[in-house]
Amino acid sequence: MTSEVSDDDFQQILAQTRHFVRTAVVPREQEILAADRVPDDLREQAKQMGLFGYAIPQAWGGLGLNLAQDVELAMELGYTSLALRSMFGTNNGIAGQVLVGFGTDEQKAQWLEPMASGLVASFALTESGAGSNPSGLRTKAVRDGSDWIVNGQKRFITNAPVADLFIVFARTRPADDDGAGIAVFLVPADAAGVAVGAKDAKMGQEGAWTSDVSFDDVRIPDGALIGGTEDVGYRAAMVSLARGRVHIAALAVGIAQRALDESVAYAATATQGGTPIGNFQLVQAMLADQQTGVLAGRALVRDTARLWVSGEDRRIAPSAAKLYCTEMAGKVADLAVQVHGGSGYMREVPVERIYRDVRLLRLYEGTSEIQRLIIGSNLVRAAQK
Ligand SMILES: Cc1cc2nc3c(=O)[nH]c(=O)nc-3n(C[C@H](O)[C@H](O)[C@H](O)COP(=O)(O)OP(=O)(O)OC[C@H]3O[C@@H](n4cnc5c(N)ncnc54)[C@H](O)[C@@H]3O)c2cc1C
Repeated sequence: MTSEVSDDDFQQILAQTRHFVRTAVVPREQEILAADRVPDDLREQAKQMGLFGYAIPQAWGGLGLNLAQDVELAMELGYTSLALRSMFGTNNGIAGQVLVGFGTDEQKAQWLEPMASGLVASFALTESGAGSNPSGLRTKAVRDGSDWIVNGQKRFITNAPVADLFIVFARTRPADDDGAGIAVFLVPADAAGVAVGAKDAKMGQEGAWTSDVSFDDVRIPDGALIGGTEDVGYRAAMVSLARGRVHIAALAVGIAQRALDESVAYAATATQGGTPIGNFQLVQAMLADQQTGVLAGRALVRDTARLWVSGEDRRIAPSAAKLYCTEMAGKVADLAVQVHGGSGYMREVPVERIYRDVRLLRLYEGTSEIQRLIIGSNLVRAAQK
């Protein structure tokens, strides 16, 4: 897990990303919001910069960043509409890491390089009744000669409307003493029997798309079984989600920093009765709480990424970071609206979008309740050993 990218090279990637976010994307946030779409030229620029494969190893055409570098990048990407990051979030995160960590060399060679240059992969785990607890999933894969036949229905799948590839979790047998009975498959979006539903109408993150995906007697070859064994599916999902939680925590810090910057700029200039509102101590208290949350979140994310890279903690710290940072971003965004007064409730003001965008961070890749359960149960289990 050491990085393939030197510090110097990484600093350049980071500076380029920061420049792209702040000069090319921030000025177009309202356009993204109004059109519910990231403009094609920004998508193209992100591809050219390697952002569709920044966490994919260099051997397969990616930039090869490790998680400690990933979180620095995520803090920059979080500074604008979260839809930007979402375009390539599944490639580098939940979907891509299943292939990177668990795919065979053949599977990696076939899919990772195209993904690094812009092919979109989606992670299809969630179903109705199987979200927080994926072991309840009902999508089935049944052997038929040397093929598999997949049937089932997934929901809320990020990037499904534009996906070329689905990483699909399906039950191959009931859970037993040997494991959860969940395998994971590579299913091309154009395979016969794959149907992508209409785009979901969401609360926020305009420009980031999700939809249902159904699999109706989809026939895929044996080589599409990730890792070549039925037994990696559940573990692949858990490891990929744990890693993703550190990234989401970093994203939360990035957007909280933006909410803070917007709040400070507004407080310093907007006046009431001729006095800048930032001169009122109760407004300063709100800024202080925002700043404290951002600083604490950033330190926690960096420490958590370090523990992941060294292998010291890949269970408790990722959940603690996601729990703290996403809740913190929610509070910071709420305070940002408060600092802006009535203006903060208006569509054209960035903090209104941020308030809606951050709400999702406490839900996906494990709700805050699920993070608490992971942290608490692991602490008790360790003590009982
Ligand atoms: C915009 C968006 C994008 C998404 N993208 C993807 C994607 O790309 N791929 C994918 O597979 N999924 C995706 N998801 C699904 C997401 O991960 C789930 O929605 C999430 O994990 C919660 O599952 P659920 O919706 O079934 O809610 P539930 O699990 O039904 O949760 C409802 C409530 O019950 C609580 N709860 C559930 N179980 C417990 C428990 N054991 N103890 C205490 N409380 C509990 C939850 O914390 C929550 O408060 C996405 C969701 C959204 C909204």
